[in-house]
Parts: sequence; C-alpha cells; structure tokens
Amino acid sequence: MDIKSTIRVIEDYPVEGISFKDITTLLKNKEAFEESLDLLEKEIKDLDFDYIVGIESRGFIFGAPLADRLNKGFIPIRKPGKLPGEIEKVSYELEYGENELEMHKDSLRPGDKVVIVDDLIATGGSAKAAANLIESLGAKVSAFEFLIELEDLNGRDVLDDYKVISVVKYDH
Ligand code: AMP
Repeated sequence: MDIKSTIRVIEDYPVEGISFKDITTLLKNKEAFEESLDLLEKEIKDLDFDYIVGIESRGFIFGAPLADRLNKGFIPIRKPGKLPGEIEKVSYELEYGENELEMHKDSLRPGDKVVIVDDLIATGGSAKAAANLIESLGAKVSAFEFLIELEDLNGRDVLDDYKVISVVKYDH
C-alpha cells in the first residue's frame, strides 16, 4: 500500500508558498490509515517509554490509536484554553504564524519517558516546544514520531539531540 499517494497536496494553503499536506484523504481510506498506524507502531514498539504524548489536533488522530495498540497511556498537548487543570505553557513560531501549547502540570512525573507524536514535522518548532514542556515537568523524550517529514525545512536539525522517526518524506 503506497500511503503517500493517498495524501492530498494543496499548494498555497493556508498562505502563498505553503505546500499543504492534507491527510484527510489518507484517513478516509481505511487501508491507508491502518497501514500508517502499522508503520508508526513498528518503529516505536521496542523503545523504552511510558506514554504517548499527542500534539493537538492531528497528533491526536495518530497518537491515541498508537497508545492503545502499544498498551500505553495517552497524554494530550493542547492549544490554549482547553485544559481544565493547572497548566504549563510554551509559545513558539510555526512555518506560518505563531502558536502556544499547554499541558497539564500533573500529567507527567519526573523520570517518566514519552514518545511525542504529530502528523507532520515542518520547521520542528511545535515538536521542540512540546519537548520543552515535557522536560519542564522533569520527564524525558524517548523519541519523536511523525507520519510526514518535510525534509527541506530541516526540522530534524532543531531536534538534533533526539531520536526522530518519520514514515513519509517530501523534499518540499
Ligand atoms: P512545525 O512546528 O513547523 O514543525 O509545524 C508542524 C505543525 O504544523 C504540524 O502539527 C502540522 O500539522 C502543521 N503543518 C506545518 N506545515 C504544514 C504543511 N506544509 N502541511 C500540513 N500541515 C503543516
């Protein structure tokens, strides 16, 4: 199954110059969705970690079923104002625009190990911000895992101290 061929690419969305990788077409295709989860699962199943952390919102789509498959708990990192408990917060820049991410302060304890999951790595800004949040709670990042990597943006370099896994690569 060629999952890459099920991803729809839309040029100049949401702003000119961005080549948007639309995964809704992959998710709708049950074989492609299942194969994506199979590939993501295979890459991390032997790593040492306690939780999957998913980045809102497309990181939830892959992170939650992966946690279930691997018998781990799932922890959400959310956009501002969504979490009801006491939160830890970071601000960072996106490929387009700015963003903030939040996490419950009591969601991780010092020494916990996590795999951070998102649909796509572009500049690596969101992923790095997520790692900062997790480390500020004293927990450790065992790996990052993305379905898609935009290689020309060199997001991997921002995460050079970490193990970075991706399944589908684009050169732009
Ligand atoms: P970044 O922080 O630059 O690595 O951006 C990653 C986040 O932005 C991911 O959660 C993606 O969902 C989204 N994103 C950034 N660039 C694109 C793109 N070209 N196509 C689809 N989603 C993107």
